[in-house]
Amino acid sequence: MSSETADHRRLIIAGSGIAGLTAAIYAARSNLDPLVLEGDEPGGQLTLTTDVENYPGFPDGVGGTELVNDMKEQAKQFGAEITHGIVEDVDDETRPFEVEVNTGDTYTADAVIAASGASARTLGVPGEDDLMGFGVSTCATCDGAFFRGEDMLVVGGGDAAFEEADFLTRFADTVYLVHRREEFRAEDYWIDRLMDKVDDGDVEIMKNTELLEVHGSQEEGVDHVTLAQNESGYPKDNLDDDETEQFDFDVGAVFVAIGHTPNTDYLEDTGVELDDEGYVSTLGGEGGNQTATGVEGLFAAGDVVDHHYQQAITAGGMGCKAAMDADAYLERELSAESGAEAAAEADD
Ligand code: NAP
Repeated sequence: MSSETADHRRLIIAGSGIAGLTAAIYAARSNLDPLVLEGDEPGGQLTLTTDVENYPGFPDGVGGTELVNDMKEQAKQFGAEITHGIVEDVDDETRPFEVEVNTGDTYTADAVIAASGASARTLGVPGEDDLMGFGVSTCATCDGAFFRGEDMLVVGGGDAAFEEADFLTRFADTVYLVHRREEFRAEDYWIDRLMDKVDDGDVEIMKNTELLEVHGSQEEGVDHVTLAQNESGYPKDNLDDDETEQFDFDVGAVFVAIGHTPNTDYLEDTGVELDDEGYVSTLGGEGGNQTATGVEGLFAAGDVVDHHYQQAITAGGMGCKAAMDADAYLERELSAESGAEAAAEADD
């Protein structure tokens, strides 16, 4: 499709997580008629969680999906359009931008906000890929109930692993939390909460342990796993060490909760600076334009930028900033255009 026939938008927002939806609410209220493109995980990470207890304003907590759906409604009420589509390419050498979507549609846009979030990381061990969806999962909330009564293994030592392990106690016979070193990354709240479940006999923690292989079949699901353990930590890096013990362990499901990778492939050929892990570098700092990237008119917010805080509320805050930055940019462009037109008319 040529840019003359493409559907034109003032603002396109890639991603419908908390960052994208907050940007949509603000942009719609600024009359930018934003188009939100939602990918394979509509609503983002929060829809994969259970109750959100640390989002301000909800003393009794709020369901992740409920919060996202309410934000969508709010954005639509002010005029945002939300449609399915994964952005595959952004041509930043033309103005307007050309935005190619996996549905085959191409849009043009005066400004773009990248709020495409991050996707679950996997371990890359044998059996993991083959059995993904057949007993291996990266989402306890989505899949936990399928394995009712089984022993379940959770890999990771961060908040997500603890939250997943805690959630899985609803269904599991026993949940085994496997972490590669001695100290946990999770916050004390989660550690204390899970330790209560350890005391109750619902959870067992296996420190200094790593998953080497998942065994099973797509027909029968997960049968068992091979683990490695070394008291000094990181057993996989020390498989030849005499202190490393390798053993098979029976479980019926495996949940991998080892963090996320930002969804920024479509920005690789643009002038947007990405770090080694693929996170977008924004201007940051003080004053306006904090969400600006190296490409004028292209802004970024949420988990595509933030590898540190990664909270719903921080993603929302960044989405708000991105919409305000995009609005200011579009205003500047508009007044530059009318200035140029006025100068041309005066010349005539
Ligand atoms: P994370 O904090 O980065 O933790 C990832 C965990 O996986 C770490 O313990 C890490 O081990 C382990 N890991 C990474 N690669 C591994 C590998 N190849 N093999 C074995 N283990 C590996 O990620 P997250 O838990 O997904 O949390 C991400 C962000 O979301 C955090 O900011 C977190 O606070 C937030 N979050 C918050 C909540 C909440 O309830 N408030 C819930 C979920 C997530 P090491 O510790 O050894 O590096």
